[in-house]
Amino acid sequence: MTKEKGKIYLSSPQFTGEEIEFVQRALDQENIATNGVFIRQFEQAIENRFKSQHTVALNSGTSSIHLSLHLLGVGMGDEVICQTFTYIASTNPILYLGGTPVFVDSEESTWNMCPEKLEQTIKERIAKGKKPKAIIVVNLFGMPANWPRLLEVAKTYDIPLVEDAAESVGSKIGDQFTGTFGDLGIYSFNGNKIITTGGGGALLTNNRFWEKKSRYLSTQAKLDFPHFEHIEMGFNYKMTNISAGIGLAQLAVLENRIQKRRSIYDYYKLNLASLPGVMFLKEPEGYFSNRWLTTIVINPEITGFEVTDLREFLLKDGIESRFLWKPMHLQPMYKGASYSGGDIAEKLFSNGICLPSGSGLVEMDLDRIINVVYRLHKEVIWNSEKSV
Ligand SMILES: *Cc1c(COP(=O)(O)O)cnc(C)c1O
Repeated sequence: MTKEKGKIYLSSPQFTGEEIEFVQRALDQENIATNGVFIRQFEQAIENRFKSQHTVALNSGTSSIHLSLHLLGVGMGDEVICQTFTYIASTNPILYLGGTPVFVDSEESTWNMCPEKLEQTIKERIAKGKKPKAIIVVNLFGMPANWPRLLEVAKTYDIPLVEDAAESVGSKIGDQFTGTFGDLGIYSFNGNKIITTGGGGALLTNNRFWEKKSRYLSTQAKLDFPHFEHIEMGFNYKMTNISAGIGLAQLAVLENRIQKRRSIYDYYKLNLASLPGVMFLKEPEGYFSNRWLTTIVINPEITGFEVTDLREFLLKDGIESRFLWKPMHLQPMYKGASYSGGDIAEKLFSNGICLPSGSGLVEMDLDRIINVVYRLHKEVIWNSEKSV
């Protein structure tokens, strides 16, 4: 997509200028593919920054989830429990392996998987003689899930957890970073995430065996022979040296990007939270969100407009926004999948919207967006002097 002048995008990437130096060095060393020095450096930088014991850099968040489930032995007919409120990349890898997703609703406080619903679902599946093979939990929009409780439940029933931290790089609870709560955790460095390598991902684990195994599987399960010898099926999932170089430059400024995104959230909140019927997702005690995207949920009866109206008005002003993720159990392609929960995810989808949150936005951009909300809100006396 070519950028249009004057347009405000949902989550544009932001570069420091250092990226090009890494790319140039990769070119100079004639090492742009999947075994250059930046790859291991990037992995080590991730290990140090987020205190993960082992990290394997891969070519996307989706492939990292696929590999995680493969390592856990998910296969034909196996059930995998997954948060319904997520982007489809979290759940499609279950299908790649011939598994069956079982969707679970969110809780109000984090918008992520409800621990009580999870436990109830596990009990039901076990009662039917089908113990789930794995659980996928997501930290949506940057907000950490309720890890203390989720880990308790997973441990009680001895089911491994995959943590989809694609949107929550740098988020934490206390001192522990998201991506390190699950048995396996994944990051995404796709184009509109908080930091980007163009396309890319990482698999994090404290299990040395899984680290070794994922390196091997991500390079077509090639055995160390003079000829190419294979005893099992692998994948071509490695990150390239160019991407890893860009990642090194991006990771160095993550702290700044998080601060910027958090200040964008604060600015929206300062200007919009006092409007009747407009709600913001707060951090529970001890939680720290990278605020990848600022989201609001409205009560249309009070605001006098729906999120569909807001999206259209923003668009007319050249401003991109996005509805919250449509729950997986409502997706046509997952029709008939089993779902356990109420209407929390459904309501968030109906009444929620993501506002532009890119770290490159300036106050004038945010005022433009805020003014559109004011213009629509029935309780705001529109003051034309405020319009930009
Ligand atoms: C972006 C994203 C992914 C997938 O990452 P890719 O790198 O795009 O494959 C997975 N899960 C969630 C929740 C995401 O937002």
